[in-house]
Amino acid sequence: MPGRGCMLTLCAAGRATWSACVAGEEATSKPPRDGILFVDHAGVLGGAELSLLDIARHYRDTSAVVLLADGPFRPALEEAGVHVDVLLAEPRLRAVRRSSGVGGALALAAVMRESRRLAERARLYRLIHCNSQKAFVVGALAGRRIGRPVVWHLRDMLTADHFSRIGRLGVVRLANALAARVICNSQATADAFVRAGGRAGLVSVVYNGIDGEAFPPMDREAARRQLDLPAGCTVGSFSRLAPWKGQHVLLDALAQLPDVRALVVGDALFGEDAYAASLRTLCEHHRLGDRVRFLGFRRDVPLLMAACDIVVHTAVAPEPFGRMVVEGMLSGRPVVAADAGGVREIVTDGRTGCLIPPGDAGALAVAIRALLADRPAADRLAATGRAWALARFSRDRMLADFDQVIAQVMCARRRTPAAADAAH
Ligand code: UDP
Repeated sequence: MPGRGCMLTLCAAGRATWSACVAGEEATSKPPRDGILFVDHAGVLGGAELSLLDIARHYRDTSAVVLLADGPFRPALEEAGVHVDVLLAEPRLRAVRRSSGVGGALALAAVMRESRRLAERARLYRLIHCNSQKAFVVGALAGRRIGRPVVWHLRDMLTADHFSRIGRLGVVRLANALAARVICNSQATADAFVRAGGRAGLVSVVYNGIDGEAFPPMDREAARRQLDLPAGCTVGSFSRLAPWKGQHVLLDALAQLPDVRALVVGDALFGEDAYAASLRTLCEHHRLGDRVRFLGFRRDVPLLMAACDIVVHTAVAPEPFGRMVVEGMLSGRPVVAADAGGVREIVTDGRTGCLIPPGDAGALAVAIRALLADRPAADRLAATGRAWALARFSRDRMLADFDQVIAQVMCARRRTPAAADAAH
């Protein structure tokens, strides 16, 4: 089988990367095969999907993506030259929410059917990578069916803030039994997995990485002119609209900052329309008028961040990672972020950004006021933050770390002849 010699060399040397080996051999084959089948349940462009976009692009010569829902993620992958198939999940599976345990149990039959269909696609690939919980449940069973190793990329905090107890237990047990590796996007995510009962030995931490070149230094006024935004102190929030992302905290803070405007960038991606509506009501309640602009989902985040004086992160529950926090730093703007979860691994308070207690609108207002009052200090903070983000959270570093984990999984696989035989 193509690639076997390469894998053996890799195991002996232990340093070369797997993607380079396989891509070199199979770059011309169509459809792409013999690499990784990436599976994601979502068709929207959330942070997990944007991270997967970079990884899938890197592996596109040998690998493909299966989505369990259609949406803007599909054309984004296609534009990146990634082979993508949509395997529409059954309505019963689509309806399962993170917080619903019973719904999850009822969806068992649908999961089994889904995993059978996925297994057929996955036969062309050596490894199944699951980019979300739902994808992992389906992917783990598919992998077991056809003897492929399954890697779960855990991008969520398995805590009561985000998941039902039964949902956490179920997925963690499945991981302990069937995952070859659990890649966590921060140490906080890894710790939550272990606290939920996950085996520590399964975990590798691979921080998300962002393409720094997408965030070139940009003049604030020029960015505002380009966007036709008014002059004046402006802060920006760049998250999907969801109660736990805490955009309401920003609006509460603005009520205490009469001279400050806000850009609220992002949409309700997973059905949080009631929350989106409540934000508009809150604006009216605080009489914020045209000081707040809801811009919906945007693809020009670097330009919008450049137009801001400060980038704010307001999650009220621990953030697994927080891509937008890194992006704020890369954009060269001072970042104020909620002190919890993965954000603590990104921001050092007073050095690379400001940390505030989650949900504390008063503290947010104080931090914004202080940064606006002392521009030289804010600029220093932003410059240190940008240098740190470029060095620590680069896309290249993420890809190298990811590749290393995949290589380890495949090498371990080859040392277990029975498993390898089943896989081929
Ligand atoms: N984002 C975007 N357009 C928007 C709002 C957000 O492209 O209108 C991007 C944002 O730049 C970031 C990602 O969505 O890259 C959100 O990732 P994060 O880790 O902050 O949150 P998640 O969605 O994964 O919970």
